[in-house]
Amino acid sequence: MAAAAQVCKTLRVTVQALIAKVRSDVSGGAEGMPIPCTSPRFGCPVPSGYTYTACNVLASGDLPSQGSGCSCREQALLHACRDDCPCGAAYEGPSRQRRLKEGAWDGGPIFECGQACKGCVRRCANRVSQQPIDMAMQIEKSDKGWGARACAHIHRGQFVAQYAGELITSTEATSRLVAIDAAPGPTCHALLAVREYLPSRQASLRLTIDATRVGNIARFFNHSCDGGNLELFVVRAHGALIPHVALFARRDISPGEELTFAYGAPCAGAAFGSEAKELVQGSSHELTSSSSKTCMPMASKAPQACLCGSVACLGFMPNEAV
Ligand SMILES: [Zn+2]
Ligand SMILES: [Zn+2]
Ligand SMILES: [Zn+2]
Repeated sequence: MAAAAQVCKTLRVTVQALIAKVRSDVSGGAEGMPIPCTSPRFGCPVPSGYTYTACNVLASGDLPSQGSGCSCREQALLHACRDDCPCGAAYEGPSRQRRLKEGAWDGGPIFECGQACKGCVRRCANRVSQQPIDMAMQIEKSDKGWGARACAHIHRGQFVAQYAGELITSTEATSRLVAIDAAPGPTCHALLAVREYLPSRQASLRLTIDATRVGNIARFFNHSCDGGNLELFVVRAHGALIPHVALFARRDISPGEELTFAYGAPCAGAAFGSEAKELVQGSSHELTSSSSKTCMPMASKAPQACLCGSVACLGFMPNEAV
């Protein structure tokens, strides 16, 4: 009896230590700085049901690569690309403080150095959105569910985080949504679909990232009908066949502000069920998203109420049939 009590006590202490560890950094050391989490009024101590990843993973197999990049090898002594490296054209500012140039907001996608660049290293200043997160943020539970807040000032154009998760096909996305729909009770998912059009607009690439079971801090960023304070960009690293999605600050963000972005055009009333699309501020990629951070019924069951609270709120979450 005493032995059983001792085992229970040891288990309790171990679980509490694990919870404390996750609360101090939900990324488990995967990012450039810890991402703590708090839930002062809502019991649930830590987010659960997913595995943290700092960058995209394939549901199966390895990420393919191809292509060519810059040739900055001549100045590789500094292990950095030259100031005039073409791979850094979208950014300005000194290393580690790089921001999107004003011109980059109008065109897309963004190009960065990658594995195909000669004489370029992983910490190259042109690989802005490929670095571990170096921005003070925290995860917090509120009456909307889990969300994320800035803990320091963020300037317009600064990189905040990738939208990282499992890269899946549209077919797999559909079957996952069907399974979520069929599950009893409230369900939630963090599936994002981004469509990038070729300049001809005759063809498009659809990128589907599921951060439901494997994801990074971006899976906690909630939707806002006013566009939020973050904006999604498709980023191509030279050498990577598949682009990634990165979130940059649309405007200056103060410490304590919730971090949000527009999941897509809201669908309301009669428009519900049709494909929700939003042209991302004049860029050449069109964003469609189907993403839910709140535990609500899936779109195929009923429209989801939006809790963004912005003056522009249309009452319903954006959604689409994937
Ligand atoms: Zn270069
Ligand atoms: Zn390069
Ligand atoms: Zn480089």
